Amino acid sequence: MRGLLLCSERQRLEEELVETRTRGRNLSRLRQLTPPERAAWEQRERAAQARLRDHETQHGCQR
Ligand SMILES: [Zn+2]
Repeated sequence: MRGLLLCSERQRLEEELVETRTRGRNLSRLRQLTPPERAAWEQRERAAQARLRDHETQHGCQR
């Protein structure tokens, strides 16, 4: 299943990454995040990025 133009799993992971980023940013606009909170959001974002990258590598569906 290589070279798919549209991969629903990839789309899902991409949306998850965007959502994680957006939520972290919105939260940090509402109030000052503590360093551990900030680190936790960065960690979530990195994890979501890694899931997307791993999926692309395994599935071969990157743009
Ligand atoms: Zn895929």
